[in-house]
Amino acid sequence: MQIVLATSNKGKVKEISEFFGEFVIPYTDIIDAFDIEEHGDTFGANALIKAKAVYEKLPKNSIVIADDSGISVPMLGGEPGIYSARYAGVYASDKDNLNKLISELKKADVKKTSAFYTAAIALVCLEGEFVVHGWMHGDVIDETRGNGGFGYDPMFIPEGYEQTLGELPKDIKSDFSHRTKALKQMMPIIEMIKRGRI
Ligand code: IMP
Repeated sequence: MQIVLATSNKGKVKEISEFFGEFVIPYTDIIDAFDIEEHGDTFGANALIKAKAVYEKLPKNSIVIADDSGISVPMLGGEPGIYSARYAGVYASDKDNLNKLISELKKADVKKTSAFYTAAIALVCLEGEFVVHGWMHGDVIDETRGNGGFGYDPMFIPEGYEQTLGELPKDIKSDFSHRTKALKQMMPIIEMIKRGRI
């Protein structure tokens, strides 16, 4: 059974492919990339919008999953939250967004404050629509350390650690990240679909 991933974000493709192994392919391996307007006001709503948009362009027996994720900093009123990918502007790169969050911390004169990542994973297939969530708590700091991971990882220190996700070995993140937790919740749903189709 093949699962189509409704994203072309390299960091997400890598992490989700590592979780599922060879069963997952990015939708851009099948059809041309297209813009999807994420007009939802929650991570779950946006994940579902992306999964549905790709599913509508594929054969109806396809199984499509999408991830919508981001980081929230309570001290900044929950920013950037669902705007994590466009925090520094519509065409901002991951690096621009990370630098913007660092500059917001510096503006507030905060060196370290609590933060959390959220991942919503949506699955759309003939059998229906499903959305699950996972979270990872920790702190953000006003500088980057290490080059591992992607996005905001070099400024995020997970709970129970001293180093950022940019410094820690990647298997530590994959053990308990927001995305891994959400994907684990999706597994019984995928199993159920698989059994119904055999
Ligand atoms: P999306 O593609 O609209 O879901 O945007 C996700 C945004 O959150 C991007 O800016 C990512 O860099 C960031 N993000 C999501 N998950 C992670 C993660 O695991 N590590 C670092 N940044 C992340």
